[in-house]
Amino acid sequence: MRRIPKGAEPNILREANARGVHYDDWDGKLRTAIRAALHAEQNGVCAYCERPVRVERSDDVSRMVVIEHFHPRSGSPRTGKWKSSQCRAASGATSHESSRTAWSNLLLSCDGSGPHGARTCDSKKGGSDICSRFANPKTTHLDRLVDIGRDGRARPVDSLPPGADAVVDSELNLNAEFLCEARRSYFAVQLREYNKAKTRHRGLSSVQKQILVNRFRERASRPGTPHPSVLLAVANSIEAKI
Ligand SMILES: [Zn+2]
Ligand SMILES: [Zn+2]
Repeated sequence: MRRIPKGAEPNILREANARGVHYDDWDGKLRTAIRAALHAEQNGVCAYCERPVRVERSDDVSRMVVIEHFHPRSGSPRTGKWKSSQCRAASGATSHESSRTAWSNLLLSCDGSGPHGARTCDSKKGGSDICSRFANPKTTHLDRLVDIGRDGRARPVDSLPPGADAVVDSELNLNAEFLCEARRSYFAVQLREYNKAKTRHRGLSSVQKQILVNRFRERASRPGTPHPSVLLAVANSIEAKI
């Protein structure tokens, strides 16, 4: 999971917020526009597991993607207050109520379905408030929130607060076996590509290694690329050998 550079808020959402439209009253047109804008902002992958998601066919939309609230929209229903002091910064909104429709608090998540009934991402997280233990990929200053190992496991970066491990493992279930396996094999494919280049050139100079590092990073930010965090991890591992 890497930082999502914040894209332009759709005008239709800005206008709805200016009119004070409540989240529960969002209509299909507004939701479709939000999903499309989030899809573009996130390069077509789920904000959490980075699996590609589709929004093209409206019939499929509800099955394929979910508009996710980083700070949960159901949080603290009795008081209407933030659950923790970090909620304001994480959501990028001024109040719990306004966070329900704030562009900075909206992410696109996959539907969270995995094999054998496994649940991940939004569907696993539900109404949990993780603002004090994790970071919103859209408002964070960190360039990535997890590191991916060759074993395919996702580990929170050191600068995240204590408890981030539990968010990754339990609340988001990002280390579900099927996700680890997908990342592990994707990582191996990239390393094979790197090793092939090494053989072809009979070893790589620092400059050649740096070119490959840049290429992996560039690919990570290309629309539609699955598991960009794996590519960043591969780039980091090559860079460490320069
Ligand atoms: Zn996902
Ligand atoms: Zn919160």
